[in-house]
Amino acid sequence: MKILVLNCGSSSLKYQLFDMDNESVMAKGLVDKIGLEGSELAHTPEGRDKLTIKKDIPNHGVAIDLVVELLLDKKNGVIADLGEIDAVGHRVVHGGQTFSKSAIVDEKGLAELERLSELAPLHNPPNVLGIRTCQEKMPDVPQVAVFDTSFHQTMPASTYLYGIPYKFYEKYQVRRYGFHGTSHRFVSERCAKLLGQDDAKIITCHLGNGSSIAAVVAGKVLDTSMGFTPLEGLVMGTRSGDMDPAIVTYLMGKEGMDVKAMDAMLNKKSGLLGISGVSPDMRYIEEAANEGNERAAVTLEVFKNRVLRYIGAYAAEMNGVDAIVFTAGIGENAAARRAEICANLTYLGVDFDDQANDCRGKEVEITKPGSKVKVFVIPTNEELMIARDTQALTK
Ligand code: ADP
Repeated sequence: MKILVLNCGSSSLKYQLFDMDNESVMAKGLVDKIGLEGSELAHTPEGRDKLTIKKDIPNHGVAIDLVVELLLDKKNGVIADLGEIDAVGHRVVHGGQTFSKSAIVDEKGLAELERLSELAPLHNPPNVLGIRTCQEKMPDVPQVAVFDTSFHQTMPASTYLYGIPYKFYEKYQVRRYGFHGTSHRFVSERCAKLLGQDDAKIITCHLGNGSSIAAVVAGKVLDTSMGFTPLEGLVMGTRSGDMDPAIVTYLMGKEGMDVKAMDAMLNKKSGLLGISGVSPDMRYIEEAANEGNERAAVTLEVFKNRVLRYIGAYAAEMNGVDAIVFTAGIGENAAARRAEICANLTYLGVDFDDQANDCRGKEVEITKPGSKVKVFVIPTNEELMIARDTQALTK
């Protein structure tokens, strides 16, 4: 069975074609700057050189046409006929309260996804557009939506309700949804397997450009750090994470900022970038801190503090923890961040293994044998998770 996985952003499209017989990637690529100046496509057929095409790509329809053309291409392609693609799996950011699982999308489903765009106005419309375009181009191929929110739908009201008038939950479904669910599910399932324990209490730390933490008990999310939108929780690349909501009205008054400017400040100019003034990218902040930049150094401290706060909170909420997982760009690669965080977890029973931690981007246990709480690095693979769900729903 061959499955195409698509992740449509507002001006980008990432794709991977999987051969599910052995879960291998046949080809992958990225179309960037769709509808903007300088649009291009980078395509890598497995085991062959990357190919970059610079051309005008005005919309997602043209982008998908180009991807299909390349997958079928005599020289750079990996399939001979479009009919070889059995199903398409789409990453969809927001499934609201409607989708607690991945789903095959029909017309009714598409209408519901469009309705949910109100909750994720930047993310859902390109996701929906990707599904619509594929339906038009491959009318007989099932389209499956895999949601960033659905894994978190097991949260109880005690963790998803905010302390604001209940009528806003009823009227507008203002509540915690959580994001990065596909990643938290992938690494928590893998971790439970490594532990050989289905009922494990696991804290999964997805630390990337966007970052979130989840508390998972027996495969179900009890709590997660992102909220109504991905803005809540940890200090991220350019997002503020948790703060006193009164700061918003205070600064709007002081600086004469309107809603749009405030939204941009919180989502695009805050976080690691906002505090350090260096970059949203952890590597550059670490570099600057190592060279004596004090603001970069304090940025690293703030980042660590927030991660520790959530780990402590979730250990308390779960009344214990069996394992902690680090994943995504920072979690998988930044050994120094992991070491600093784990140095403050001895109270939980983490017996850290410095030597094992000296690694990047591979699955490894970074605690010593016998450690009461085990800590793992587990590379995430959201695309494979999407492909697996798509296969399960369409086989
Ligand atoms: P996205 O959320 O866009 O998928 P990633 O999961 O790729 O992001 O994470 C990107 C982050 O990972 C960046 O802050 C980057 O600096 C960080 N990162 C990647 N490699 C390293 C490394 N070797 N050391 C420290 N940080 C790293």
